Amino acid sequence: MAKNTVFTVIAPIYNEVESIPKLWERLSEVMEKAGAPWELILVDDGSTDGSTELIRDLAKKHTSVRPVIFARNFGHQVAVSAGMDYSRGDAVIIIDADLQDPPELILDMITKWKEGYEVVYAVRSEREGETWFKRVTASVFYRLIYRITDVKIPLDTGDFRLIDRAVVNIMVRMKERHRFLRGMAAWVGFKQVGLPYKRAARFAGVTKYPFRKMLKLALNAITGFSYFPLQVATYIGFISAGLSILAIPVVIIVRLTVANSFFGQASTLISVLFLGGVQLISLGILGEYIGRIYDEVKGRPLYIVREEPADFDKSPTGKGANQ
Ligand code: UDP
Ligand code: MG
Repeated sequence: MAKNTVFTVIAPIYNEVESIPKLWERLSEVMEKAGAPWELILVDDGSTDGSTELIRDLAKKHTSVRPVIFARNFGHQVAVSAGMDYSRGDAVIIIDADLQDPPELILDMITKWKEGYEVVYAVRSEREGETWFKRVTASVFYRLIYRITDVKIPLDTGDFRLIDRAVVNIMVRMKERHRFLRGMAAWVGFKQVGLPYKRAARFAGVTKYPFRKMLKLALNAITGFSYFPLQVATYIGFISAGLSILAIPVVIIVRLTVANSFFGQASTLISVLFLGGVQLISLGILGEYIGRIYDEVKGRPLYIVREEPADFDKSPTGKGANQ
């Protein structure tokens, strides 16, 4: 480890008031063992349960805590991205605030980092305290993404990982709005390695990822890293056109040889409705991509910060955020 190594830990927080004290306790214990100076960036993603006040208090007591407080809820992936913007460490560790990711694993990550890996991601070999529905949807999601996207995003990995400064600097420059950080980290490349771990149950509170948010994340992952959905319309078009052409001689022959064939409108109606449905779905998929292009073109800031860390230096030459 270089002499002046500094670590950054980023924890996004959305209504985690019960977990924060324990998070601080376990993280500071672990980082003490790591034996290098460190900073904890707590990104408050529009909490309304008193987490904000708790984060402010913690920052007053410990100079290593640097709060980034959002003006509203911008979402988990954006909160982590903001943490990266403000980070100063040589290695950045991303961890959930609900203690589902065991902080103790950070030491193993640091060991791998010292061995020369630039990205050390944690692989969930077991999951505790999560519903059957969450496990199945998560598993299907990871496998689907793996199959249809162009970058090989490791299976069963979340955002709990250590990322070297070199990779963080590149990710900070990737300004896409609909972010899927695991995909972005895989896209960058460098030397990456997985560390299996047992994902614990939440320390307190309930999940902040309802089905709606999970679906949004899945759509970001798919549209961000693949054109496959756009191509589906082409495939279906070719298949149905091919089938129609094949059907023409069949219909002629049947019509000429079998009396009273093809009466009734049900078959016509069904095929028209089927293709109408396929067309509307294709239109929707197109809309999904166009909406995203529109968002990119507007070029609004990714997030709005209400309060920055006290030591944040805005001057052009200052060692402040990477924004
Ligand atoms: N989170 C956030 N903004 C959100 C949703 C979640 O910052 O809009 C944080 C949350 O506080 C937690 C982490 O992201 O630290 C992971 O969320 P959660 O534990 O609810 O997701 P799950 O583990 O259930 O997938
Ligand atoms: Mg969680």
